[in-house]
Amino acid sequence: MSTRDFIEKDYYKILGVPKDASTAEIKKAYRKLARQYHPDANKGDPKAEERFKEISEAYDVLSDEKRRKEYDEARSLFGSGGFRIPTGAGTGTGGGFPFDLGDLLGGFQTGGLGDILGGIFGGRTRRAQPRRGADVETEITIDFVDAIRGVTVPIRLTSPGPCPSCRGTGARAGTVPRVCPACSGTGMVSRSAGGFAFSEPCRECRGRGLVVDDPCPSCHGSGRATSVRSIQVRIPAGVEDGQRIRLKGRGAPGENGGPAGDLLVLVHVRPHPIFGRSGPNLTVTVPVTFPEAALGAAIEVPTLDGPVTVKLPPGTSSGRVLRVRGKGAPRRDGSRGDLLVTVEVVVPHKLSSAAREALEAYQAATKDENPRAHLLVGGR
Ligand SMILES: [Zn+2]
Ligand SMILES: [Zn+2]
Repeated sequence: MSTRDFIEKDYYKILGVPKDASTAEIKKAYRKLARQYHPDANKGDPKAEERFKEISEAYDVLSDEKRRKEYDEARSLFGSGGFRIPTGAGTGTGGGFPFDLGDLLGGFQTGGLGDILGGIFGGRTRRAQPRRGADVETEITIDFVDAIRGVTVPIRLTSPGPCPSCRGTGARAGTVPRVCPACSGTGMVSRSAGGFAFSEPCRECRGRGLVVDDPCPSCHGSGRATSVRSIQVRIPAGVEDGQRIRLKGRGAPGENGGPAGDLLVLVHVRPHPIFGRSGPNLTVTVPVTFPEAALGAAIEVPTLDGPVTVKLPPGTSSGRVLRVRGKGAPRRDGSRGDLLVTVEVVVPHKLSSAAREALEAYQAATKDENPRAHLLVGGR
């Protein structure tokens, strides 16, 4: 016996009893019909045999209080006169079958009535139309060098999903929610105030159209649960602090065959003790002595690929920036930025006597030079 039978067959009519018949009335009607159509009394009559099967089926359902209730609920939704979607859902065509009924019925048999009802009443066409999953946002912190080179990091994502115990119905396993009597399952009730009629969400079922008598203990009847999943995310080389990476299709799963949402990862990058970052370029400050700056020198400069030798031209001022090509961060096109080396002339805190003598000799040799001369022009 399937749900299709529930919808297609009128068990009350088969037994010839009214819809509000008592259990005793149903039993009485069944006995009478069973005697009449019993195969033993109708040998070789296939019609009688068929009828007897129908009667037995009808009795099986209607004599069982729980199954009768399910049957009544299914009938009130799908039965007599065709299947209607409440509140004028998009593709509905009145009495037609805008959904794949077989699909719904399949769902009914495996997931319980609430699955379908939740789908229909929870949102207008939630069951019918594919919906893209939500975008999910998360944050990670990675090392400076990993940001330059790219890294694969595990990310734990928590996302809302249906409660696995009740499959989202909110009803204890083995039970189903019942159609809300206050709104007949539409989730909306009409009220009139000040001569105007307006509809508002049903208070009995909070707009869900269903009432749960025996709530699922896992989710306390909400039907929702938080699922945790861990995924490996590839952070591309060259990512910058504060950048958002969009990973297509790694967000929340879609509904009804819709595509998954995206995963947005906000990346924080830990600062490096030596290097800084300026877009695709790396920066570093390199101290040099006064003689190196004045006379020129070949100095060793650190890069992420190991030290390189940089030629310091004679007469280099403190603060001058030298460029080491191709030693920066990767760009999107695969090329690399540069390493920008800021030269910083350092002044010794202490001088040996030999150094002092040498400097005093230097001072004497340059006593006619005034580096502030240009500040004095017109200043007097
Ligand atoms: Zn649950
Ligand atoms: Zn209601």
